[in-house]
Amino acid sequence: MSQMHTIDENGSSPTCLDEGSTIMVTGGMGFIGSNFIRHMLEAHPEFNYLNVDKLTYAGNPENLRDLENQDNYRFLKADICDKEAIGPAMGSCDAVVHFAAESHVDRSLESAGEFIDTNVTGTFVLLQAALNTNVKRFVMISTDEVYGDIPPGSFSIETDSLLPRNPYSASKVAADRLAYSYHEAFKLPVMITRSSNNYGPYQFPEKLIPHFITNLIQGKKVPLYGDGMNIRDWLYVGDNCRAIGDVLFHGKGGEVYNIGGGNERTNIEITNQLLHALGKDSSMIRYVEDRKGHDRRYALKCGKITEELGWEPSMDFEAGLKLTVSWYLANEDWWRTLLD
Ligand code: NAD
Repeated sequence: MSQMHTIDENGSSPTCLDEGSTIMVTGGMGFIGSNFIRHMLEAHPEFNYLNVDKLTYAGNPENLRDLENQDNYRFLKADICDKEAIGPAMGSCDAVVHFAAESHVDRSLESAGEFIDTNVTGTFVLLQAALNTNVKRFVMISTDEVYGDIPPGSFSIETDSLLPRNPYSASKVAADRLAYSYHEAFKLPVMITRSSNNYGPYQFPEKLIPHFITNLIQGKKVPLYGDGMNIRDWLYVGDNCRAIGDVLFHGKGGEVYNIGGGNERTNIEITNQLLHALGKDSSMIRYVEDRKGHDRRYALKCGKITEELGWEPSMDFEAGLKLTVSWYLANEDWWRTLLD
């Protein structure tokens, strides 16, 4: 039988996480998940962490290799769609931060099946398992892509309509709203984050920034979609990890929090900055046919998380990009193995 979770009149869970509580992190071998586990082990060593990851092409045990003997960290190789594995694992957890997903838009345009399986069915399995146990906090990691294309001068707020235009973002809308429904219908204390494009260390070199950095280091041209004028907001991964921690501990049940870096850039601007950082010129750009259904712009208003939880991004974009370039230069073994 499902257990109803009590929520106070402000919508937040009345039960804080006690010292020694266990936090399940799904997708913790991926880019943001591994940065989040590192951040939490340092900021909150009083909790235990269970990393549940299927180890798809995007999940890399090397991301957390140095932490594998830490007492309060455990890894479980499992598919979040696998009820038999997730049920018992959830039984030992007090909170969930759910990152696991198929995350690359281009792959969803080639083959959407895994996106529906992991992003929708997997989220359902986790929510249902959380409902059947004693989970006190469930953070659903969604994305700014759920809002769809945003015209110049407009910014998405949390209550805006969701208009996804590719299979990845459509599957994230399904998961985002499914998680919300578990709060509304069953009182599961679910909080939802919608962040903009993350960048930083440990990002698989298929996404724009690490793909372009690693190409340039290898002397290869960078493939730029369309006219290069698509706009994204860029958020340093460490800032996002801090925001997700704030939502986990202080967010209100049933609420959505936009998380942005305040760094709107066109793809051509990013490309030029990377060319400059790596001592290359524009002859290294190869313009390629635009992505199908390519949203022109995403842009977030993030006043809610600042006003309610006191979070603000702290990384300056130029400094963050420099750090990221330096990390890929210093960790060639990490990414070269992935490209083999
Ligand atoms: P990623 O692709 O780097 O990592 C995904 C992780 O999930 C991998 O470790 C993979 O092995 C694991 N995984 C995939 N399918 C699984 C399954 N069925 N069972 C268990 N584990 C599975 O992704 P990321 O960039 O770190 O993104 C993490 C989350 O943040 C995703 O939910 C994504 O939608 C969201 N998000 C990402 C960004 C971004 O810029 N990267 C922006 C906004 C939101």
